[in-house]
Parts: sequence; C-alpha cells; structure tokens
Amino acid sequence: MGAEATLLRSAVVPGSLDSITAETLVRRAVQEFGAGLTFACSFGAEDMVIMDMLLAADRNASVFVLDTGRLHQETHDLIAKAASRWDRQFTFFVPEAGALEALLAAQGTNGFYDSVEARKACCRVRKVEPLARALAGKTAWLTGLRRGQSVTRTELAVAEVDAAHGGIVKLNPLAEWSEVRVWDYIRERGLPYSTLHDRGFPSVGCAPCTRAVRRIEELRSGRWWWEEPEHKECGLHGRAPNYTI
Ligand code: SF4
Repeated sequence: MGAEATLLRSAVVPGSLDSITAETLVRRAVQEFGAGLTFACSFGAEDMVIMDMLLAADRNASVFVLDTGRLHQETHDLIAKAASRWDRQFTFFVPEAGALEALLAAQGTNGFYDSVEARKACCRVRKVEPLARALAGKTAWLTGLRRGQSVTRTELAVAEVDAAHGGIVKLNPLAEWSEVRVWDYIRERGLPYSTLHDRGFPSVGCAPCTRAVRRIEELRSGRWWWEEPEHKECGLHGRAPNYTI
C-alpha cells in the first residue's frame, strides 16, 4: 500500500474528508484500494450517481447487487439497462438456499409483516448475510447513502471504518448531497434510473416492503411503513461501536 493509501486511511476520522468532492473521493478510492474496492449497488437514484463516477474512474470496478429474491421487476429492468449502458455485467449475491428455506419454513412467505424481529430475520437472510459474503476479502466499499434520507442517517460520515465487516473502509461520497443535487446529476448526464422514482418511490428496496409516498413525507417513509422510523434499517448499514483503523 503506497503513500496515497496511507493518506486516505489516516484521514478516516470524523469530518476529515467532508470537503473533498464526491468525484475526487471515488477516484482516490479506486487508486488507493484497487481490486479491494467494491460498490454495493441497490439501483436507487443515488447509486446511479456513484455508478457513473466509479465506472468513469475504472470501467471494470467491482459492482455488486444484493438480489434478495423480492426486488421489484423495475429494479431488474434497470439492472439490465445499466448493464447495456456501461457495457458490462454486475455481480449478484443471493440468499443462502438453506437459510432461506429455514426462514420460509419458520415465518412463511410474508412473515416479515408480523413483527420487527421477523422483518429483521428476513433482512438478515436476504441482505445482511449476502452482504457479508460480498465484502469478504475487500478492503473498502462504496455506498450511495445520504444524511438527508432518514432520521437514522443524520450523522452519516463521508468515510468511516466498518467494524461490522472486519474494519474495512466504508465510503459514502454523497453523504452531504441533497436529493435535488442527485437528480440534477442524473438529468445532466442522462443516466438511467428506476421508473419507480417517477411513480412516487423516493427509496427503492424489496417490493413487499416499499411503497410510494407523498412528497411531504420523509424520503424513506415508504420503506417498512408499518414500523417506527428508528427501526428502519435492514442491518446493512449499522454503526459500529468503535471506530479504529
Ligand atoms: S426488505 Fe422486506 S423482503 Fe426484503 S429482506 Fe427485508 S424484510 Fe425481507
């Protein structure tokens, strides 16, 4: 790991990367982490921005999708569209078959509506465990998370150490971006985006757990709408208790 790598790793302290532009951060991440870098793409609007920046820096960069088995058809359509636009395929991680069969045996096909615990059990099998596999052996990952998305993300850092995944670096280049800025970027560059956004879905997730919202509502209020706002994370982006690097 060279001097540049040392620079970025030592910069992972709260606020130290706040003045860097998203494009520069993505480019530096590509230079520093190389094949150790990966991008978790859910194909929401923010992720199309990150995709554009990342593939401009390295058209062969690692990009993966957590295919939970419950994604909208519109998301699959967008994945195909993106593959065509950038002339490449993405890596899919799916739930482990035995764990999924056990989950369905225990709670049925829509058991996630029954309680927060049942919902988290489903997210664990369909998202959290596949994410752990996707990040195994990596040294850094990119997300399209923004502070403005929900009450659970107001303190989101641009860069942090992800203790939940072995202390690798987690980069959120759009942390401080507004929703308007995201859409300006998408329109200016003619990027593909999910048609669900045109139908009132500001946040895209699994089909049975996501619905359209009125514009005055919080952006992620259409995700797990039957739960209280502070519960609305799937476990992919939990904060670690200690940030050390
Ligand atoms: S969002 Fe819903 S369907 Fe998707 S993994 Fe979580 S509980 Fe299961």
